[in-house]
Amino acid sequence: MRLLRSTDLALRVLMRLAVADGTTPTTRDVAAGMEVPYTHAAKVVAELQHLRLLDARRGRGGGLALTEEGRTASVGAVVRAFEGEGDVVDCEGSAPCPLNSGCRLRAALRRAQEAFYASLDPLTVRDIVADPTGPLLLGITRR
Ligand code: SF4
Repeated sequence: MRLLRSTDLALRVLMRLAVADGTTPTTRDVAAGMEVPYTHAAKVVAELQHLRLLDARRGRGGGLALTEEGRTASVGAVVRAFEGEGDVVDCEGSAPCPLNSGCRLRAALRRAQEAFYASLDPLTVRDIVADPTGPLLLGITRR
């Protein structure tokens, strides 16, 4: 199972802001520090703002900051929000699979997908920036 690039980037943005220590980097700062295109970062930031996980203030002195919800957000919830509810296999695409109506594999994959999310549910953004990740992240993205 591979996560969407936007899911991984959303988690990295949250992690970066979790170690901001009172500073408010801009979307451009975050994109540059993570070496990702600004437009991609901006879309992810907009979605995180929509989810109320960060505040984005415009203008002089503006920038990005985690909300309290963002600081304590479950990693599993963030991954679910960005990945959506779809199955890991496209059983009903343009050429629906003939086993679709009674497939044990599909049910097993759904359970595996749920187990994957469930293993991430207890982790918070704060947890995943504990040592050594937080200081390392700050060292490579400080702008
Ligand atoms: S075999 Fe099962 S899991 Fe695979 S595409 Fe068909 S319905 Fe989906």
